[in-house]
Amino acid sequence: MVISPRVKGFICITAHPDGCRENVRRQIEYVEKNGKMENSPKNVLIIGASTGYGLASRIALAFGGGANTLGIMFEKSATATRTATPGYYNTEAFEAFAKEKGLYAETINGDAFSVECKEKTIQKIREDLGKVDMVIYSLAAPRRTTPDGQTYTSVLKPVGEAFTNLSWNAKDNSLTTVTLEPANEEEIAATVKVMGGEDWMDWIEALHTADVLSEDAVTVAYSYIGPELTYPIYKDGTIGRAKKNLKECSDRMNEKYQGQGIRSYVSVNKAVVTQASAAIPVVPLYFMILYKVMKEKHLHEGCIEQMDRLFRRKLSGSQVEQDNGGFIRMDDWELREDVQAAVMDAWNRITTTELSEIADVDGYWEDFYHMFGFHFDNVDYDRDVPLV
Ligand code: NAD
Repeated sequence: MVISPRVKGFICITAHPDGCRENVRRQIEYVEKNGKMENSPKNVLIIGASTGYGLASRIALAFGGGANTLGIMFEKSATATRTATPGYYNTEAFEAFAKEKGLYAETINGDAFSVECKEKTIQKIREDLGKVDMVIYSLAAPRRTTPDGQTYTSVLKPVGEAFTNLSWNAKDNSLTTVTLEPANEEEIAATVKVMGGEDWMDWIEALHTADVLSEDAVTVAYSYIGPELTYPIYKDGTIGRAKKNLKECSDRMNEKYQGQGIRSYVSVNKAVVTQASAAIPVVPLYFMILYKVMKEKHLHEGCIEQMDRLFRRKLSGSQVEQDNGGFIRMDDWELREDVQAAVMDAWNRITTTELSEIADVDGYWEDFYHMFGFHFDNVDYDRDVPLV
């Protein structure tokens, strides 16, 4: 099949294996150019390892630090008529590149929220690695089924009152004003269940009980805060409630495992285009303006630049840089005063006519297509690709 992008809303329903491979290759190249990473953990478990921040963490630690990596993902393989999901192709490519370098790289494709997946992972660690030194929790999921069989669905809504602001319409590249109605209590609680820290704690508890965490093991999960502009839909919205819970769970783990060597952190990362973030209303317009400002100031970073910097500079062995609230701040450049002042200035004067001038619409689309393995200038998109 000749594979072309088929975009539906904020998602592309096709993915290109050669392009996904190129996406992974470029990330590896970036990390390798920065040289050997000091103090890298040896054996790393990455939960949510196939796209976005999880994949970038995996690449940074494997190709920068020489780490053995076991990944967990929830991806679909190809059928006779459908391409695989990008995360599936990314992972195939990652494993092949890692093995070429003699690095251990295995992946479990299953529902990370399930007890079965946790048991399988423990078994695999025992057989192949003995113990892991680092656990990265980078899940972004729309729903979670808990062990009692109940399914919770997360929502992206404000809390308390409706939120009205500008939003970008990807279909016709226009700006509209949208009003988002507030979530009810049940929706808030469900979002906390899915995107909060409960499952992260379950993972650490299961791994600790099974004695597959090494002494001085570190675990890190990812969060986002963003500027005041997006507070109603992010920080103070349903997802923000879940992220607040994530940090509380991190603090609880630090108390619980104090003296047993396990340290837990939350890293606040910058805004980047991923499958998860493209789905949040209002936020893509902010991203496009932010991209423009940060590129002009030579501060722009994607997932790989962020994760490479995290593990080289901010979470490296026993050296951990935290703010007063105990967070690792990878959003330091995004939230710089001059950056945010420029973003707000642009936000206040942007209109549909000037959209492409004031915001980095092309950069947004480039990242979007790259996520699905499209728009790489060195990939032959006319090639007839066998799907299965
Ligand atoms: P993503 O959609 O690119 O990645 C999600 C990963 O989770 C994928 O590997 C996917 O396979 C996996 N996954 C989803 N459901 C699963 C399940 N049930 N079982 C196993 N694996 C499952 O998302 P992302 O944007 O990289 O987000 C990762 C984390 O980073 C999230 O916690 C997110 O809130 C946080 N974060 C994202 C941004 C951003 O701008 N994208 C900024 C800061 C923090």
